[in-house]
Amino acid sequence: MPTSLRFRVIENAFLKRPVEVKMPEERPSEYFGKYVFNRAKMQQFLPKDIYENLTNSIDNDKPINRDIADAVAEGMKKWAISMGATHYTHWFHPLTEGTAEKHDAFVELDSEGNMIERLSGKLLIQQEPDASSFPNGGIRNTFEARGYSAWDPSSPAFIVDDTLCIPTVFIAYTGESLDYKAPLLKALHAVDKAAVEVCKYFNPEVKKVIAYLGWEQEYFLVDEGLYAARPDLLLTGRTLMGHESSKNQQLDDHYFGAIPSRVIEFMKEVEIECLKLGIPLKTRHNEAAPNQFEFAPIFEECNLANDHNLLMMATMRKVARNHGFRVLLHEKPFKGVNGSGKHNNWSLGTDNGIMLMSPGKSKNENLRFITFIVNVIKAVYKYNGLLKASISSATNAHRLGAAEAPPAIISIFLGSHLTQVLQHIGSEDLDNLAATSKQGVNLDIPQIPELLIDNTDRNRTSPFAFTGNRFEFRAIGAEANCASAMIALNSAVAKQLTEFKHDVDEKIAMGIDKQNAILAVLGEYVKESMDICFDGNGYSDEWKQEAERRGLDCETSVPLIFDNYLTDATIDMFSSVGVMTKKELEARNEVKWETYTKKIQIEARVLGDLAKNHVIPTSTKYQSELIENAYKLKLLFPDKADSLCGKELATIEDIGTRIEAIKGLVDDMIAARKEANTIEDMRERAIAYHDTVAPYFQKIRAHIDRLELVVDDKMWTLPKYRELLFIR
Ligand code: ADP
Ligand code: MG
Repeated sequence: MPTSLRFRVIENAFLKRPVEVKMPEERPSEYFGKYVFNRAKMQQFLPKDIYENLTNSIDNDKPINRDIADAVAEGMKKWAISMGATHYTHWFHPLTEGTAEKHDAFVELDSEGNMIERLSGKLLIQQEPDASSFPNGGIRNTFEARGYSAWDPSSPAFIVDDTLCIPTVFIAYTGESLDYKAPLLKALHAVDKAAVEVCKYFNPEVKKVIAYLGWEQEYFLVDEGLYAARPDLLLTGRTLMGHESSKNQQLDDHYFGAIPSRVIEFMKEVEIECLKLGIPLKTRHNEAAPNQFEFAPIFEECNLANDHNLLMMATMRKVARNHGFRVLLHEKPFKGVNGSGKHNNWSLGTDNGIMLMSPGKSKNENLRFITFIVNVIKAVYKYNGLLKASISSATNAHRLGAAEAPPAIISIFLGSHLTQVLQHIGSEDLDNLAATSKQGVNLDIPQIPELLIDNTDRNRTSPFAFTGNRFEFRAIGAEANCASAMIALNSAVAKQLTEFKHDVDEKIAMGIDKQNAILAVLGEYVKESMDICFDGNGYSDEWKQEAERRGLDCETSVPLIFDNYLTDATIDMFSSVGVMTKKELEARNEVKWETYTKKIQIEARVLGDLAKNHVIPTSTKYQSELIENAYKLKLLFPDKADSLCGKELATIEDIGTRIEAIKGLVDDMIAARKEANTIEDMRERAIAYHDTVAPYFQKIRAHIDRLELVVDDKMWTLPKYRELLFIR
């Protein structure tokens, strides 16, 4: 028998040696940002007045003057060409998980017909990529408008291979956002504006508030040969079948363990490439599951950090190929071991360096700290359903609420110390504040010990945890664009801070002094919204019941979770902070439901195909061998049939029953899919896919995984978990 593909790829994977990466001669501090048109390059390649004009616009959120665009484009082009670039592209984030780009060469013909290299200001500022092929939720049909991409000067241009990439937003001619970046920039602007107003109570000099994001990216690596022999991984990003390996993560021997040498070489190259692209990668380590790892950078301004996350995911995918790996960014590539997420560490800071989520030393600093913490708590409480919707997808659903971190209920972990402090603010002695404050009640503002900063009180089950100087939103999917969560969070906090300002000013107008007015409002907020805080075990069934009782969103069906985007409260919130209109929200939900449906549809097809043309034929072949053996044994030893092949007959029967069950279930699943496909309404169709198609996956898989255990190993065509997860 010729060696099967499976054995050839396993052998090949075992024999692979690490591909050694040549370390640059310079130090990281010297090559950091080499491929980025950063301030130093701008200064070098732009005339002085243009440089000042441009940086002034960037720093103060002012629109770029079109007159300077030509000069900026010329400088950018000169730099790019000096770096060997031949092409440029507008780099944008359509409503898919990836980024989009269409490359154009710098070449143009002058009036004499001679070829020249050119990048005009017009082309830098705006382009019209054919938007019809990107998800747009009907916006373009409804408005009959074309889409265009527009330069985002707040994120510097960079070079990948031979192409100058210009970060852009992607919008319809009628103004609706067709991407993630446009609403993210609006949300960041909104939280800036609202937070500055609140900061003024404490630090009147504050002019700008910056939202920071530090992401931690989890991922799996798998050998490329094994990957290619698993059509499910190739087409859906996850294994739709596969029995658990006898050993997986139960010994906890992978987390923070020594990094395998083939992997470390991959990591080194990713780090070098990322640093050159200006992505400040800092941390690398093994994660909990075998073959699972993590990268984390130093946190940055949110829009830039998000661009960097997208760029780093693309870089990882590319570099992995140099090392004979494929990167799996799916949230749950393997059953039975941890899935991958992307923790979003989020905080707010001012232009003069105050970190608003960090406790301070003075009373004023601590009141400011408590103010921001309580407002975040209230925003998360009020919009907990929306925040869940912002991180929900067909793929992330395998983590959320599926006995996997974190649960499908958004709650906040504060730690016992901060909880006590907040309870003190919300306690009785503040109730009479309005009446007594005129007499100048000097309230003892809690001094939060600095110990909090070094918070060790960690709770890994919490989806939204305070970790000393920031909140860590842990429910984001590994593959997701962080912008989705960051748009929702920053918008909700912006709206909340605006309300806070209003509530405090109202009290001040009643004659209450500022400090007491703030404390009084905070006290009310704490009372209203402490139900979102939960420090216990987020995986427990008791918490699900308790959360339900507290009125938190406990829905687990992704298509229904998306409804949170279209509630009156959400629509009002997004429009009042100027981030998204009802029309945009509706269109984006169409895209969400459609994407959900398509993902389940593809998985159903792949599972059906693999069941029918891998699993059933292989199992039947093995069953025939058993039958032949049993038959011959019976012929040879007619009197001893029971003792010689009784068990074998049971196995033959078991295989037969499972094959029949799989055939039946696959047929039923196809019928359910056909039925669901007749539904016109996107939301209803997604619900049908969730309720009637997806439930077959586990049922079919259960039989397949049993067969994998029974069937002769050398006949099995698909690489098994023990091979996928342990070969380096
Ligand atoms: P852990 O794994 O313990 O959560 P890491 O140090 O691996 O922590 O990663 C934490 C991430 O949080 C890093 O990206 C870090 O830069 C980021 N971070 C640290 N402080 C802040 C902050 N104030 N605001 C936003 N992100 C932060
Ligand atoms: Mg973390």
